[in-house]
Amino acid sequence: MPTAVFGHTNPDTDAIASAMVFASFLRKTGVPAEAFCLGQPGPETQFVLKAMKLTAPEPISALPGGSTVALVDHNEASQSIDNLPDLRITHIIDHHKLGGLTPSEPLYLRIEPLGCTATILARLYQESHIQLDSWEAELLLSAILSDTLGFRSPTTTATDRQIVHDIQSISNINELEDYAAKMFQAKSDLGDMPAEQILKLDYKRFEFGGHPYGLGVMETTNPGYAFARKQELIEAIRAERDKGGLDGVFLFVVDILRETNQALVAGPDEEAVLRGAFGAEVVNGVADLGARISRKKQIVPVLEAYLS
Ligand code: MN
Ligand code: MN
Repeated sequence: MPTAVFGHTNPDTDAIASAMVFASFLRKTGVPAEAFCLGQPGPETQFVLKAMKLTAPEPISALPGGSTVALVDHNEASQSIDNLPDLRITHIIDHHKLGGLTPSEPLYLRIEPLGCTATILARLYQESHIQLDSWEAELLLSAILSDTLGFRSPTTTATDRQIVHDIQSISNINELEDYAAKMFQAKSDLGDMPAEQILKLDYKRFEFGGHPYGLGVMETTNPGYAFARKQELIEAIRAERDKGGLDGVFLFVVDILRETNQALVAGPDEEAVLRGAFGAEVVNGVADLGARISRKKQIVPVLEAYLS
């Protein structure tokens, strides 16, 4: 069986693009590999794949015991494939904090504090003197624009910008800003998608001092859409919290263009956490988190410190 390469559950553009490109990288180095995804691509990723005339990797939720796997864009078991403990991890390429995984065998482990897993992959190609194909460059660029919110997120580094500069000419994307705007438009255009599905578009589980939490992010150019559907979304949040046995679930509505974050608050416990951790004002079930637009850099560490 080829090595299965996949990103986190509820995959975003980086999770899917990085899985496709890293599987290709492994094949170019003589390692049989195939990309998969842990869930269906969201609207932004669908737009990217369509623009590149690529098909999405096959979704899976488990693999036969003993299969070799490479994890990209995540390293926590709670965000990974169901039967991860039965699998042999050969590689982890990621840009998130270490999440307590203790693999039983040595592996290639590369975690860098960069804006995107795709940036690390581009460096891997450069270091290995392996040529990027145009489709690979296009996927990597898309992932970097997605994860950095078009370089607006505080997670953006000089390396991310440098890599975009280095690889753009290999891609067929000429107008980066225009392309990013179209990606964000696709991400914001949710139509009548059910509230539960919106919550799960970019949703991750975390353990903060032993307390399980679920954190969804809705990055959008149209936050009014979320507030128009606030009641439905709050009900979906409560259902997820109760069903998942979680201490709390939040949906952070991030306005990509104005760089603001407003969280939907499902109950008094959640309200207390946001007041305590962030000093946030909460009015009518909405907490103002100011310009904290990065879950990874500005939300998770604060909740971790507050709840541990
Ligand atoms: Mn991701
Ligand atoms: Mn990422």
